[in-house]
Amino acid sequence: MDLVDLHTHSTVSDGTLSPKDLVRYAWNKGIRALALTDHDNIDGNQEAVEEGVRLGIEVIPGVEISAEYPDGTLHILGYYITKKDKLKNHLSQLQKARFERNLKIIEKLNRLGIPITFEEVSEMAGGTQIGRPHIAQVLVKKGAVKDLDQAFHRFLKKGGPAHMNKFRPTPKQAMEWILEAEGVPVLAHPFTLNIKQSKDLEILISKWVGLGLKGIEVYYPEHNLSQQEMYQNLAQKLELIITGGTDFHGLNKPGVDLGIGYGDMKVPYSCVENLKRGLEKITKEVNKYGKEK
Ligand code: AMP
Ligand code: FE
Ligand code: FE
Ligand code: ZN
Repeated sequence: MDLVDLHTHSTVSDGTLSPKDLVRYAWNKGIRALALTDHDNIDGNQEAVEEGVRLGIEVIPGVEISAEYPDGTLHILGYYITKKDKLKNHLSQLQKARFERNLKIIEKLNRLGIPITFEEVSEMAGGTQIGRPHIAQVLVKKGAVKDLDQAFHRFLKKGGPAHMNKFRPTPKQAMEWILEAEGVPVLAHPFTLNIKQSKDLEILISKWVGLGLKGIEVYYPEHNLSQQEMYQNLAQKLELIITGGTDFHGLNKPGVDLGIGYGDMKVPYSCVENLKRGLEKITKEVNKYGKEK
């Protein structure tokens, strides 16, 4: 079976491989199609796509946008991002908010008695987008915690003593931004919504379908079989595209490998074919809308 990975991060956000090296790694593993989905950032897409062309592996330019959601974490993936200019403007707002949030987290840690500086975190990020994983790495380096997991559990997770909220678009805005870029919006890792009952999830997702959502990430390393089944059934019922990916972050997510997650994941190429059909529909809608205007 031709395997694909539709959820990955590079050094442009919080992964440890550059976009180019990520594509090379995928090619070495025999992966047929790879989507680069950096957090709130599309700057790695061109490099990844170009390397894909060079090596002969299909690379889908993507993004993962964090949206407002009070009861957990809501991430929306965007696939086949082509019209980049407006999206880039929106994302630069988020990057500014991220920068300010990072300073506040550092301040909080200082007040908790941990002497960590922006310079140390920035050095850890090595010129890439600074995120909590880099702050976590500095905490490990300083011996304040034993590993990344503990850094999040003790300090950085939502509700933790050094957590800080940052500006996020509403789900409606995030989907509009993706559609405006002629991309396909897909709900990432639905388990982070913290909704147990499939009826409740259906109500929520139906609302988002009304706002332009086109798919659900059914295959994901942290989904157990019953969750995978629930999301799959929901996708079928709501006529949504089924996608899947490992959320590969390189060394920033130990144990999760490209294409296979914790070892047994398999995402079929049919997910890419379905995304392409979704894309065709969106492009037609955009053209129709454009002509009517
Ligand atoms: P940020 O975008 O700076 O808020 O950081 C979010 C990133 O931190 C996520 O994409 C994950 O890569 C990482 N992360 C979040 N929670 C955890 C956790 N509990 N353990 C390890 N990494 C985490
Ligand atoms: Fe991440
Ligand atoms: Fe995510
Ligand atoms: Zn991700």
